[in-house]
Amino acid sequence: MEMKHKRKNIFPSLLQGEYKAAYCLTEPDSGSDANSGKTKAKLTADGKHYVINGQKMWITNGGFADVYIVFAKIDDDKNLSAFIVEKAFGGITMNEEEKKMGIKGSSTRQIFFNDCKVPVENLLSERENGFKIAVNILNIGRIKLGVAAVGGSKMAISLATKYATERKQFGVAISTFGAIQHKIAEVVTRVFASESAHYRASQNIDDAYNAFVAGGMDSAKARLKSLEEFAIECAILKVHGSEVLDFTVDEGVQIYGGMGFSAEGPMDRAYRDARINRIFEGTNEINRLLTIDMLLKRAMKGHLDLMNPAMAVQKELMSIPDFGASDDTALFAKEKKALSNLKKAGLMVSGAAIQKFMAKLSEEQEILMNLADMLIEGYVAESVILRVEKLISMRGEKACEIEKEMAIIYLHRAIELAAAAGKSAITSFAEGDEQRLMLMGLKRFTKIDPYNLKTARRKVAKHVIDKGEYPF
Ligand SMILES: Cc1cc2nc3c(=O)[nH]c(=O)nc-3n(C[C@H](O)[C@H](O)[C@H](O)COP(=O)(O)OP(=O)(O)OC[C@H]3O[C@@H](n4cnc5c(N)ncnc54)[C@H](O)[C@@H]3O)c2cc1C
Repeated sequence: MEMKHKRKNIFPSLLQGEYKAAYCLTEPDSGSDANSGKTKAKLTADGKHYVINGQKMWITNGGFADVYIVFAKIDDDKNLSAFIVEKAFGGITMNEEEKKMGIKGSSTRQIFFNDCKVPVENLLSERENGFKIAVNILNIGRIKLGVAAVGGSKMAISLATKYATERKQFGVAISTFGAIQHKIAEVVTRVFASESAHYRASQNIDDAYNAFVAGGMDSAKARLKSLEEFAIECAILKVHGSEVLDFTVDEGVQIYGGMGFSAEGPMDRAYRDARINRIFEGTNEINRLLTIDMLLKRAMKGHLDLMNPAMAVQKELMSIPDFGASDDTALFAKEKKALSNLKKAGLMVSGAAIQKFMAKLSEEQEILMNLADMLIEGYVAESVILRVEKLISMRGEKACEIEKEMAIIYLHRAIELAAAAGKSAITSFAEGDEQRLMLMGLKRFTKIDPYNLKTARRKVAKHVIDKGEYPF
């Protein structure tokens, strides 16, 4: 019997930075539809190698990678397999560097595999397991992208704040104008909220990992499983982080005025570099669709009870609103009630949409986008409230005055967005009495006591301007 060769361990070289790696999934005709790639792998007659032929596109690190994780289909397989391909194997050529709008410091190339001979032991995992591997990599890529977006946003805020305190118009620093303070407070609040959601999901992933390991699972499997469990959150963070970053750099350009549009100022590059984040690691449309798709699949498998809470909300809709006494003086009492109602709004709209379209809901992308927005905003608003609650328990309320204002500002925004998304969904599939009832329900579940958001934003902006940078 022939001995199976042991695969060369490339990890020490990767960890020491001796090897650089690239991830080769996308092809000219296979982007969002990642499992449709045409790159082929064929076993040689002696069974010792796979020969890979095909073309990959938009490959980051492409120009200088020593090792490529290449996704290809073996023969006429339905699903992708993954291969560890070293440049030294030969049969690899590439085009010139892509001319891009931003991230020009990053190498992006088309890579061609022409009869590239790969030892059979370099098949990663099992045949046809490549798509699963690709998705798992994307899960971690998404949360990492979100974190990087939060970091980039903080840098842009610090630059814009400094500029606003230095730039004088009408005899005063532009940071003294309410319109500029509004911008500073809004970007800071959204970044703080996004970061809260990242902290929350990361801790959840770490806790799940530790629990799997304590239960006897091996570490590598536990890593994958814990990320898989929070794949919805990873998609949420990717979308939210990248959109907050784009909003932040856009407002950054505006705060810089003409200098924001100058290629000699820092906002020009920040603006261009930020834009890719809504496109790679799955476009934001794909990630929005995925959040709801994964949620529905979990409900169908019985891992998540969606329909019972949705039915309970429908029942509540028919009843008289509860005006019962509640302890409004407790920390975030009103806000938590508003959050709980926000979840009811999401359940009401999604439950009705599922009942209406059943399996055909996947064809109603506009509604799915609305549902995703409700989910994303609810998750982030809850995260910022939980974070500030924890901070207050550690430092006391007085020391967290600004953070508390930001939690409230964010919640108001989340409710406003969710109300608009809910309305757009309801009016696109419900009519007559059903529509009226649902719109009334939406109004009831997205009600929040008025709050002087201008004063709150001014407080936040003053704090940031006094510190001269992103201060949290
Ligand atoms: C700078 C850069 C670096 C990259 N690095 C890598 C890398 O290292 N490795 C790698 O494998 N790939 C990489 N990519 C590829 C990247 O992941 C893809 O560009 C991305 O997944 C989108 O695919 P696409 O460009 O083919 O767009 P398409 O899939 O053609 O999408 C075009 C538009 O249609 C929308 N769309 C597509 N399908 C649907 C659908 N089902 N429903 C609704 N809307 C839809 C999209 O959201 C988008 O708005 C990189 C791309 C860039 C630009």
